[in-house]
Amino acid sequence: MNAPADRLPQPSAHTRELQALDSAHFLHPFTDHQALAAKGARVITRAEGIYIWDSEGHRILDGMSGLWCVNAGYGRRPLAEAAYRQMLELPFYNTFFQTTTEPAVRLAARLSELAPPVDGRRFSHVFFTSSGSEANDTNVRLVRRYWDLMGQPQRKVIISRWNAYHGSTVAAASLGGMGGMHEQGDLPIPGIVHIQQPYYWDLREPGETPAEFGVRAARWLEEKILEVGPDKVAAFIAEPVQGAGGVIIPPETYWPEIQRIVDRYGILLISDEVICAFGRLGHWFAYERFGTRPDLVTFAKAVTSGYIPLGGVLVNERIARVLHSGGEFTHGYTYSGHPVACAVGLANLDLMAAEALPQRVREDTGPYLAQRFAELTDHPLVGVAETCGLVAGLILVRDKATLARFPEEWAVGMTCRGHCFETGVVMRAVGDRMIIAPPLVMTRADIDEMIRLIRTALDATLADLR
Ligand code: PLP
Repeated sequence: MNAPADRLPQPSAHTRELQALDSAHFLHPFTDHQALAAKGARVITRAEGIYIWDSEGHRILDGMSGLWCVNAGYGRRPLAEAAYRQMLELPFYNTFFQTTTEPAVRLAARLSELAPPVDGRRFSHVFFTSSGSEANDTNVRLVRRYWDLMGQPQRKVIISRWNAYHGSTVAAASLGGMGGMHEQGDLPIPGIVHIQQPYYWDLREPGETPAEFGVRAARWLEEKILEVGPDKVAAFIAEPVQGAGGVIIPPETYWPEIQRIVDRYGILLISDEVICAFGRLGHWFAYERFGTRPDLVTFAKAVTSGYIPLGGVLVNERIARVLHSGGEFTHGYTYSGHPVACAVGLANLDLMAAEALPQRVREDTGPYLAQRFAELTDHPLVGVAETCGLVAGLILVRDKATLARFPEEWAVGMTCRGHCFETGVVMRAVGDRMIIAPPLVMTRADIDEMIRLIRTALDATLADLR
C-alpha cells in the first residue's frame, strides 16, 4: 500500500520542478487551479497493463482506464507500431478535396462491419473527428441538415437529459446537462432542451420498483416532445449508461420505452457511446446491449484505446442516403480521418477482436465484477452497488437501512477518492457515487485485487467519518 499523502516524504526535486512548471503554465481541463497549486499535480510517468506509475514510484491500479478509454490496457506494442509505421509512410493527408487515405477507408469499412444493422439497415458511413465533443457537434449539424433535406426545416430541437455528458465544446456542452458547465458558458444554446435522467435512487417514488420507474422516466421524453411540439423535435441524444454523470444504469424497462417513443414521433435517436462502445458493456456497441435502434452512434475514446485522439459518428444508411442527396455537407475538421489515428484504431480493433474482449466482458469478467461488487454492500458505507459490463458505481450512504445520504458539504466521495489514490487504486467520485471503468483486459485475479484495494479505501473513509 502507498503511504497516505500527508505522510509522504517530500517529492523528488524532479517532481517538484514539474509541479512548479505545471502550476505556472498548464491550464488543466475541469480543474480548480488554486487547489491544484496548493497540492501539486501527481505526475504520471509510465503505465503497463492495468497499472500506472507516478514520478515518486507509486504503482496505482487504474480503475478508470485513463479516462474511460484504455480498454486494451497499457503498453500494447501493436498500437505503437501501427502509429510508427503510418507516420513513416504517410503521417497526414486531408480528406476534404476528393482525396482519401487507406487507414481512414479501412477503419470506416471496419466500423461499418462491426456495427450490427438496425431494421436491416447498415451503419454504412462514418464521419471521423478527433474527439467525442467534435463528434457530438457533428451530430447537431448533421441532424439539422437531415431534416432540412427531408423538407422539415422546423425540426430543430434536440432533447437531451440533465446530468448527461456529451462533451465540452459549445454545442456538446449544451447537449450535456451539467449545470456547472451551463452556468459558465451561457448555455445551452437555443434549440436544446433537457429532461430528467433515469436515476432510480434519486428520483424514485415511495414503493416504486425499478421497472415502474424506468417506464415513468422514459415517458418524460414523451411529455417533452408534446410540450415542444412533435413536428419541431429533431432528435433525442443519450448515453446508454450515463458515464460522467456517475454511472447511472437505467432500469431494463427504460430503453424499450424510449425506443417506442422515438419511433412513434419519428425523431432521430443518437446513441452517444463514447464510453459505452468497444466492449465496455460486453458488446462492440452498447445499442446491442439494450436493443435500441439508433440512427447515429457517437464514438471516441476506446476506438483507439485512448492511444491517440479519434472520434466520430456512425451514420445509418437511411440518414446517409438523405445527406448524399443534398450535395455538399459543409462540415469537416483538418483531422477528419487522420491516417495515423485510423491506423491505430484498426490495430486496436484487431487486438480487441483477437482477445475477444467484448465477449470476455459479457461472459466472464462482467458477471464476475457484478458478483464481487455486490459483495461490497456488506460494507457499512455502501448502500448500493451496481454494474453493467465493466462499468460500475457505488453509493456511499450514511444509513444502510434507509439509504440516507451524507450531506453534500461533507464531500464524502472526494474523501474516498483520496483514500483510493493513497491505497493504490483509481476510482472517480461523482458526488457520493464512487465509480470505476477498468481496462477490459482485467482478469478475475485483477478484479479480486481491485476489490481488495477498494475495500481498504472504504475502511479508511469510514475511519475518517467516525
Ligand atoms: N460523450 C460522452 C458520453 C463522454 O463521456 C465524453 C467524454 O467523456 C464525450 C462525449 C466527449 O468526448 P471528448 O472528451 O473526447 O471530447
